[in-house]
Amino acid sequence: MKANLIDGKALAAAVKKDAAEQVAALQAQGITPCLAVVLVGEDPASQVYVRGKINDCAQCGIQSRSVRLPETTTQAELLAQVQKLAQDPAVHGILVQLPLPPQIDEKAIIEAIPPEKDVDGFSPVNVGRMQIGEPCYLPCTPAGCIRMIESTGTQMAGKHAVVIGRSNIVGKPAAMLLLAKNATVTICHSKTENLQELCASADILVAAVGRAGFVTGEMVKRGAVVIDVGINRGADGKLHGDVDFEAAAEKASWITPVPGGVGPMTRAMLMLNTVEAARRAAGV
Ligand code: NAD
Repeated sequence: MKANLIDGKALAAAVKKDAAEQVAALQAQGITPCLAVVLVGEDPASQVYVRGKINDCAQCGIQSRSVRLPETTTQAELLAQVQKLAQDPAVHGILVQLPLPPQIDEKAIIEAIPPEKDVDGFSPVNVGRMQIGEPCYLPCTPAGCIRMIESTGTQMAGKHAVVIGRSNIVGKPAAMLLLAKNATVTICHSKTENLQELCASADILVAAVGRAGFVTGEMVKRGAVVIDVGINRGADGKLHGDVDFEAAAEKASWITPVPGGVGPMTRAMLMLNTVEAARRAAGV
């Protein structure tokens, strides 16, 4: 391996330390940030994610409120829960863990979260504000990716950044945030022609595909910064990224591992957004 490792765990620890210091300062003013986490059903991966977020809150001194609802919850019942949290002044951030069961319209639920409590940054208002560069809550995974690139000292301005994936929660916002850093951005997706060549010309390569080992060594430019967002559980029960790590690390200058890369940073960024929500609610 020639590349330097971007240590997501260490960076996340630093971000959470920063969040904890901000929480302490807010508490001195009588404000305790509070995040409500809503989980519908028993999806094992979602349960792990929710537990992680609640632990992170405890580490940072953020209060958490866990709302667990059965798999059979109706759209109306979930909407009522979200509206209750929306109206509760003690709750600063609301996170509804996705995916939701099929009887529930995800879009309607996300839209029911008031923009000022939308710490996931998924609501149309926050997405629009990000697009035009207005203050907003940035979606945690792409914001974490940018922090990771910044941590390497790499200048993004003028560089060719290629994002593989165009989902609303990762690919598209990652591309927008890279553009905001003045990178020249290419978005690749399932219909892209010449994907290999495009990736091989990337100074910064962000993979958010959801396929283990999708990015091969040949797709990595020598000296590139490689950010692997993918989380894929292999037949071996282990987590794998979208990037063939060993091959890519031979050519990249910097690379994120999976696990221990983007995942911990995503969770840490959620803590920062929650602190910010509490600060804005209190007008301090
Ligand atoms: P998604 O399934 O919504 O999107 C995948 C994207 O990949 C699509 O836009 C699609 O066009 C593209 N794609 C699929 N096949 C392709 C192909 N053959 N060639 C080129 N592009 C192709 O997934 P998502 O929600 O964006 O998540 C992507 C991955 O990131 C998943 O593995 C997910 O688990 C992971 N993820 C990780 C974190 C984290 O915190 N680390 C957060 C969110 C998602």
